[in-house]
Amino acid sequence: MEEEPDVGAPSRTERKALEKAKILERESERKLIRLVGRVLKKPEAERSEEEAGVLLLHRDTVEELCKRQVRRNVLKRKQEELYDDADELKSKVKQLAAAVEQAKHLVIYTGAGISTAASIPDYRGPNGVWTQLQKGRTISSSDLSKAEPTLTHICIRMLHKEKLVKHVVSQNCDGLHVRSGLPRHALSELHGNMFIEVCTSCSPVRECVRLFDVTERTSLHRHGTGRRCSHCRGELKDTIVHFGERGTLEQPLNWKGAAEAAEMADVILCLGSSLKVLKKYACLWCMNRPASKRPKLYIVNLQWTPKDDLAVLKIHGKCDDVMSLLMKELGVQIPVYDRAEDPIFSLATSLLSEEVNSHTREVISPHNGQEVCSPGPGDRAEEATAVQGGWFGRGYGKGRKKKKKAA
Ligand SMILES: [Zn+2]
Repeated sequence: MEEEPDVGAPSRTERKALEKAKILERESERKLIRLVGRVLKKPEAERSEEEAGVLLLHRDTVEELCKRQVRRNVLKRKQEELYDDADELKSKVKQLAAAVEQAKHLVIYTGAGISTAASIPDYRGPNGVWTQLQKGRTISSSDLSKAEPTLTHICIRMLHKEKLVKHVVSQNCDGLHVRSGLPRHALSELHGNMFIEVCTSCSPVRECVRLFDVTERTSLHRHGTGRRCSHCRGELKDTIVHFGERGTLEQPLNWKGAAEAAEMADVILCLGSSLKVLKKYACLWCMNRPASKRPKLYIVNLQWTPKDDLAVLKIHGKCDDVMSLLMKELGVQIPVYDRAEDPIFSLATSLLSEEVNSHTREVISPHNGQEVCSPGPGDRAEEATAVQGGWFGRGYGKGRKKKKKAA
């Protein structure tokens, strides 16, 4: 029997010719797009006859380019930071105050926008971590542990104290809600807390609160902090939930508290969050109910959010500005943050003497302006100025290659 010729596989020369033809085709497409794009940029009156002819001849390309422009404009609008003028802000805050007073079960959702006043960069704002990383820039360290609770954090704690707020769900890892004095049972830190490391070998999970950022050696799928559990010697892990990970720790994530709060909520106030991540957590939005039975949504954010259309009220203002107006409206005093009273100092477990050099991050001290850099002077202290790894440094970039474990 004769063997059938192998028709499926072209020869090497054929393949090369095919590839070349494809490359040429793509190149001429690109040339055409550039040409049409140039013509479209000109005002109609200034186009030559020849140029007008090009547009007529390549209507599909014209249409495609116009669609792209529309998409670009929409994207640009969504990224813009808008500010309500003073009068509008005041009248909107009045509405918000009425909603806060009338709410039976008010829940607050917070994002990075409430911490920007604490010099922590937000994620998606023009200078946010995410935006910077997308542009291929590195993040400069405005030392995170120097950050203190903002006015917004303090206001939220006061609203809880006054029983106006039942629960706070945060996507921030900066630990500032805890440090503002908000009780932990009223808080869900969905993406972790940079000051907490846990031993998951112990049952129940053992928690260690530290006075420094525990995440400097950790990243996506690598959570070991390098320190060990004093009870079982298991490796301690940070509590950070990176993009692409599923947080399973009971604390500090407290998903149970968050879900229960959302279930009970009649009003949800979103502060300083783009909601791009939070919107994906279905249980936070009661989307299984008809629209009229869902909690009323109030949003404070400078940029567009995907929930804007569902909101009763959208306030374009800085969180601190809105909150200070709100507190005035509600007649609630705003105390000043006092570092000496920061609950983190009573929650924290101190390091064993052999662990003192296990990190290079600055240590928070109860006395203002007297931070101690634990490893002392020397080469390690220098390292601390450039933030590497940790809760926002790694694991967020697109398509980053995994680095070999540092020795
Ligand atoms: Zn343990």
